[in-house]
Amino acid sequence: MGNERAPHKIEHIGIAVKSLENVLPFYVEQLHLHLEGIEEVNSEQVKVAFLRIGETRIELLEPTSKHSPIYKFIEKRGEGIHHIALGVNDIQDRLKELKASGIQLINKTPKLGAGNTKIAFIHPKSASGVLYELCEKREGN
Ligand code: ZN
Repeated sequence: MGNERAPHKIEHIGIAVKSLENVLPFYVEQLHLHLEGIEEVNSEQVKVAFLRIGETRIELLEPTSKHSPIYKFIEKRGEGIHHIALGVNDIQDRLKELKASGIQLINKTPKLGAGNTKIAFIHPKSASGVLYELCEKREGN
């Protein structure tokens, strides 16, 4: 076994889009990726679509309100790559450890993400401009 504290994979790559309906045909019909499902995540005010690609996924995020962080992101920077999600085993421990090391966190405690996951974001200021999401799958998921 490897280091239990290291992320075990890129869980997904999050891409901000204005409209799932408009971009899904590119992913499904042109790239031939499998659409796993679409769900609304109320904590982030987004509608997300997951497309499986090998061990990982592409997560398309469409804002459902003007208060969504994704809406603000698109306003400011346009559509595009929004975050990289790292699969971790014990998100609570990882957050505690990062905080103790002086890493800036957007979420100090995990919140509920899509697909029954626990998620938290690390501030891009602490990660050379990259927004990282830590993502812990629930048992049996
Ligand atoms: Zn994500």
